Order: sequence, then structure tokens, then C-alpha cells
Amino acid sequence: MLNFCVRSETVEEYLRAILYLRSKHGLARASELAKYLGISKAGVSESLRSLCSAGLARQEKYGPISLTTKGERLASKMTFKHRVIELFLAKTLRLSKSKVHAEASRIEHSVSDETVRRLYFFLGKPRRDPHGSPIVR
Ligand SMILES: [Zn+2]
Repeated sequence: MLNFCVRSETVEEYLRAILYLRSKHGLARASELAKYLGISKAGVSESLRSLCSAGLARQEKYGPISLTTKGERLASKMTFKHRVIELFLAKTLRLSKSKVHAEASRIEHSVSDETVRRLYFFLGKPRRDPHGSPIVR
């Protein structure tokens, strides 16, 4: 695992955020990542270094952040988990749409792949999360 003191939750959160920013703006930059996560630029730089050392991401100096194959795979998995959980919370539990993002962001790190896969089938293999973003398995 990681040699640095970055929790796996943080890693997962960063990877999902990088994928999200890329889908929205075409690329992910450290400054946008800091804004999106509500973290200082210094904090983001430090965590990014750990992601790079762990072979999950790459970043040229002042350039956009790119993901390695391994990072890409983990980021896609986390995005899938996040969106399935959001839909479950909104559709099945009828939690308000404004609350599902924060709630899913907490749950997604502790739930197993199998449970999310089963949730996905339970929900009838949905194509969109409550915010309209695609659910890609
Ligand atoms: Zn969300």
C-alpha cells in the first residue's frame, strides 16, 4: 500500500474528484482539485505526491493531473460506487437529493464491491445517478 501518511479514503476521494473534474473540464488541475475538495493548495500538492508515488497519478510541474491505468481503474470503481449509493439513497430511501452526495461520500469508502454490485442490480442496472451523471459499470 501507500508508504505515505495518506489514508485510503483520501486517495479514493482524490481519484474520484480527478475523474469528475476531467469529465467536467476536460482535464484536472491541482488548483481546481483544491477548490472542489475544499482543501488548501499545499494540502492537495502533498496528497498528489503520495498518489504519484503510489503509481496512481502523474503530474508534470504546473500541468494537469493524469491517472495511471491503476489509478484510472480505482477512480472508475469509486465513481461507480458513489453514484449507485447516491441513487439508492435518493430512490429507495427517499433521502433528499441535496443530501445524497455528502452521505454517499462517507459510505463509499467502507462498503464492499459486492454490496455495491448487488445494490446496482437491486436498482435495476440504472444508467444515471440522481444528478443525471452516467453510471458506468
Ligand atoms: Zn455525488
